[in-house]
Order: sequence, then structure tokens, then C-alpha cells
Amino acid sequence: APPAPRGADLAEPYLSGHLASLGLAVEYVRAEGNTLYHLDDDGAEVAVLDLVGGFGATILGHNHPEIVSRAKDLLDRNAPVFAQFSLHPYAHDVARTLNAIVRRESGDPEPYLAIFANSGAEAIEAAVKHAELDRVLKVAELTEAIEAETEAVRAASGRGTVAVPDDVRERLGLRPPAAGAAGGTTDGVAGGTEGGTTDRVSGGTEDGATDGVAGGTRDGATDGVAGGTRDDAVAVPVDALAEAVLTANSALAQSPPVLLALEGSFHGKLVGSVQLTHNAAFREPFGALAARCRFVPFGRPEALDEIVAAERRTLFGLAVEDGRVRLTEHELPVFCAFVLEPVQGEGGIRPLDEEFARRIRETCDAIGCPVVVDEIQSGMGRTGTFLASSALGLRGDYYALGKSLGGGIAKAAVTLVRESRYRARFEMAHSSTFAKDGFSTLIAARTLELLEADGGGAYRRAEERGRQLTATLDAVHRDFPDVVKEVRGRGLMVGLELHDPSGSPDPGIREHALSGTFGYAASGYLLRAHAVRIFPTASAPTTLRFAPSVYLTDAEIDHAGAALRGLCAVLRAHDGARLLGS
Ligand code: PMP
Repeated sequence: APPAPRGADLAEPYLSGHLASLGLAVEYVRAEGNTLYHLDDDGAEVAVLDLVGGFGATILGHNHPEIVSRAKDLLDRNAPVFAQFSLHPYAHDVARTLNAIVRRESGDPEPYLAIFANSGAEAIEAAVKHAELDRVLKVAELTEAIEAETEAVRAASGRGTVAVPDDVRERLGLRPPAAGAAGGTTDGVAGGTEGGTTDRVSGGTEDGATDGVAGGTRDGATDGVAGGTRDDAVAVPVDALAEAVLTANSALAQSPPVLLALEGSFHGKLVGSVQLTHNAAFREPFGALAARCRFVPFGRPEALDEIVAAERRTLFGLAVEDGRVRLTEHELPVFCAFVLEPVQGEGGIRPLDEEFARRIRETCDAIGCPVVVDEIQSGMGRTGTFLASSALGLRGDYYALGKSLGGGIAKAAVTLVRESRYRARFEMAHSSTFAKDGFSTLIAARTLELLEADGGGAYRRAEERGRQLTATLDAVHRDFPDVVKEVRGRGLMVGLELHDPSGSPDPGIREHALSGTFGYAASGYLLRAHAVRIFPTASAPTTLRFAPSVYLTDAEIDHAGAALRGLCAVLRAHDGARLLGS
């Protein structure tokens, strides 16, 4: 049963109850750098080392003085915050800066156009929504082109026939030839000889000689379709075939989009984005609300190939080639987008490996599926480069950024769209009251300036501080291999996975392990006993995550190490009472 709601709380009161039961019901009253302060019973400030950094939103720390000063300046001079449908030159500045960074890191000279948003989930939804608009327009362009060509062939081919193999006829919903019909005798196909008569096809009427179609040669070979000559092919009148092609295509063109994401992924919790978030508890109750996603097992490109093969769809068409009517096949764009994190965050801080990233990119290129690189948690320099994907050699068709883009003060997110995929009409179809507002966009601009200053000093700091932090966590792992399973990550995006304690002799620890709250119980202990704020990742509840600012000091790293050693000692001793503070 959920804990009782807390007192008179009305804003998610059950969450407050959970926090209370885990020892996490603390109100912070001040924040600076990597420190949050709450008050003790006497009203004195108690400092807490914040290693989760607003869950990744404070790469520059809480209330960075330069960000605060920019915010104050904007407010002091009454800068317009909400002036929708007017020029926003600073938004172009942010987009230009992001372009320069992407170009520098990925080596890709193609520009990306920016769509601003208010949250990470919204940036992902904007990307997917744009990708779907692009897909739907591509489907329309393709079906129109096929229709025009098919109509032209039908008009030109008079009473001719085309040999169509059984399986293709089935896919086109064409009736089998009537009993007694000369199915399988379209020698034009089966034997490559000059088209003989193919009497009584699908309906029993006499179809004429098949030559005379579009210039007097024999009827179209179907080799474009079924891989060469086929014994089971029967001749179908061009007219009936064209009709069947158009009918089948209009049904196929309505195929719902297929979205691809990785197992373990986290891309947000809104109606659309939660369907890309693998965690079943977040996603499943809402499955009927949005397009379905196929999840690819992490690190298994061959599974991606299988999914692609199963989901691929083609449209048929008719064309005249070398004077023959041919049944053609065209790849239908059913794949809307492959959305992925270069380093999975909520899935337990799991970096993608280069080879898997390369295979995904290759497959997506082959099927025309855009890659949406979700850098909401891994981006903004956290992993040592501005984009974690650039270190993997992975190029996105879309990038989503959020969290630290708002400098730890504002809520800002952005979607970058590769120019060659960009659809101008999206700008009229998509908007939000708050997106691209004067305040958050100018704060984002300042944040980027600070990150880029000193030739990217912040990125070097993320890399170097990350190395120090990881070395400290590695040492804890070495000393407590029975408690710590693994330390992994990139730069200042680090995870420490604990062994699953569901076999613990302590009933309290066991219970938390079984209910998936063990990581939060550890958080409660770390806060209570060591004044450190560390939380598990959302979907991998035994992985503790570290996302501090680039200003992390040696003393703070030592503090983190000591706190984790304290936790490990308690867990090694299966000391449920100390862990749970009971
Ligand atoms: N994508 C990733 C990779 C994230 O880590 C998150 C947030 N944890 C989101 C999307 C969603 O961002 P928001 O919470 O701002 O909606």
C-alpha cells in the first residue's frame, strides 16, 4: 500500500508520503554550486552535497553567478519575456552557436534548424512530430508519383497483360484465376519467350495477345518484383492490375508509423514520448494513446535487422521499361524515427558502443529512417564533449537538448533538425506559448557562452573532474566488490551499480529490493548519515547516478567517496536498521 499522503499536502501528496518514508522529505531553502541547504530544527542551515545536480540540469552548478547576473539584468531592464509572433534575434543566435558547435564536433557541414521547447520530453515530441510530418509528406509524394506513372501506363497499355506471380497477386488482393484458366502459362515470364496468349485470366474474359503493350513487345516481366522468372505467374490485364495497385497502395500508405528506440531508453513521460521510454511501469498503461515503438535490445544490431525486416513495407507500381510493362516495388517510408541516447541516463548510465552506433546509423540510412539523438541528459558538455554522440562518431538527423540548456535557472529545450529533412510548414503546425521566450532563450545563450569560453574549458573540466570522480568510485568498487557491481559512464555522467540485494538476510532491505525502492532507501541513508544527495536512475533502480557540475572540487569528491564507503559498510553488514534509520 502506498504511504499515507503527508498532512495537508495537495500537490502530489502521495509522493510527499513516499519521500517521508524514505527519509527524503527535506525542504531546501538555498542552493549554490554543488550545495543545497536545508534548515535544522534550530533554523540553522545544513549543507548537503548535491551530486545529482537537478538531475543533470545544473552543469554550471546551482545559481551560477554569471547566470544569475544575466537573469537579474533581464528583469531589471524589463526585457520582454512573452512577445510571441515577433522577431527573436537571440533565438537565431542560440541556433547559430549550436550549429557552430555541432559542425565543430561532428564535422558535418550541413546546417540544423532549431525548434525551441520548454522541456526535454517536449523537445523529443517536437522531433518525432516533425519526423512524422516529413514521413507523411514523403508517403504522399511517393504515392502521387506512383499513381501518376501507373495511370500513364494504364492509359498507354490498352488491353495488355502483365505476368504476376501468385504471392504478389495475393499481396495485391487480386483474385486467383478462374478454374480452367490458363494460370501459369505466361511464357513471357516463365520461359522468356515472346509473350504467348494468356487466355482467360482473372475473370474469364479473353485477354488479347500480350504483345502490343506499350510498343509491341511482350508483357512486362515481373523480375523487379519477384526475383526473376516464375512458374507460378499468371497474366493479369494491365487495367485490373493498375486498379489493384492503386487500391493496395492507398491501404498500405495508411500504415501506422514505426518508431524505434533502444531497450532501457528514457525519452520523457508525455503521451508520445513515454511510448519511447522503455520502462514498462511508465509506458504500458498509456500504450493506446500514441504510436507504438519497437524496442531494440541494447548492443544487438542483428535484432534491429530482424525488426526492420518484419516492419518493412513496399508499395507496388507500374512502369514501362524498354517498352515492357513492369510491376515495380517501392520502399514505403514506414519508419518514422530511431530515437536514442548516446549514453543512456535513466536506464542506468550505459554508454552506447561505437560499433553499435555505427550499425544503427547504417541501417537507418538504408531504410531512410532519421536518427533522433537525445542529448537531453548527455549533452551540454557533460560527457567531455558538447555532444556525447560526437565522441561516438554518431551523427544525428535531429538532436534534442534540454536540462542544462536553461543554465540551471530557466526551463529551456531545443530540437535541431537537419536542413535537408526540414519541412517549413512545421513552423505553422507546431508551437507553444512559452517556447523560445525571451528569458529562457537569453539564459540559454549565456549558458552556451560560459560553456564555450576559454576554448571549451567546461568540457575539459567535465572530462577531468569525471576522471577524478570515477577513480574515487572505482576505488570504492575495488574495496567493496560484494556490494558494488560496476562503475561506468563518461565524464560527469557516472553510474555506480549496486548488487541486487533481494537475497539479503535483512527483511527491510529485502522488501525495498523487491519493491524497487532499494536505491531510494540508499539515498535516504546517504542524505541522513552523510549529507549527500545521490539518487538512483529512474529505470535502473540499483544504479546510483552522479551528475554534478563541472565545478566539482576534490573535497567534494572525497566527501562522495566517504559517503559511499559508509553506505557500502552498512550494506556489507546487511544492517537494515542503519540503512533505513529505523
Ligand atoms: N530524454 C532524456 C535522455 C532524459 O534524461 C530526460 C529526463 N530525465 C528526458 C528526455 C525528459 O526530459 P524532461 O524531464 O525535461 O521532460
